[in-house]
Amino acid sequence: MNFKSLSLLVLIINLKLLFAQNELNFSQDLLMGKEDSKLFSNSIGLLSETAAAFEKMKIAAQKAGFKIEIVSAYRSFNRQKDIWNRKYRSNEINGFSPDENIKKIIEYSTLPGTSRHHWGTDVDIIDGSIPRQGDVLITEKFHGDGPYAALRVWMEENASQFGFLRPYSMDSERKGFKYEPWHYSYAPLAIPMLKAYLNLDLNLLLVPEDLEGREYITPLFIKKYIDQNILGISSSLKPSN
Ligand SMILES: [Zn+2]
Repeated sequence: MNFKSLSLLVLIINLKLLFAQNELNFSQDLLMGKEDSKLFSNSIGLLSETAAAFEKMKIAAQKAGFKIEIVSAYRSFNRQKDIWNRKYRSNEINGFSPDENIKKIIEYSTLPGTSRHHWGTDVDIIDGSIPRQGDVLITEKFHGDGPYAALRVWMEENASQFGFLRPYSMDSERKGFKYEPWHYSYAPLAIPMLKAYLNLDLNLLLVPEDLEGREYITPLFIKKYIDQNILGISSSLKPSN
């Protein structure tokens, strides 16, 4: 075997190893927020590659006078299910019909097993140098003379250099979740993870026994939810094929 074909063989083996590793990293449990071990090892709740890029961005922001603070990063399947059930019961008490109830929840919250926050690639952030007052993840606080408007502008100009993009952009063509100026995804991991995620059979996976409103989460609902919510993101974060 000559040197050229030997190098080619080594390259193929390496690629196969890389592929196998990626498959491993993107297990069904990891994609659905059911594999916590990797994420509990770092207290900020981001996969290590995301955390490293985030740290670099944080340092750059600091030089510009901002203190990027995480409000929410990793969220488990069970935590998302608790959020869903709590909102469902509260809307029910307020007289919402099941259809209205679910529609209201999915303005901002996901079905458990479908949150980008399950992946360790996504963060909700604010400027921690400004004292918190009440709820912080409110659109108005990121615009006009809101406390986080300046950070939003800095992020819009700089975050992409560090690999961070906004899935829930302000785009009237976009369907699904409402505009979230605070939510960023680490694209180098979030794009391949979404691609792997879309290969799962979500019909079988998304309706746990103890989910409120489960009888209304039909295959038809799930199909529409995938098209409009899971894929209702900025095109820069969609896998190319
Ligand atoms: Zn978020």
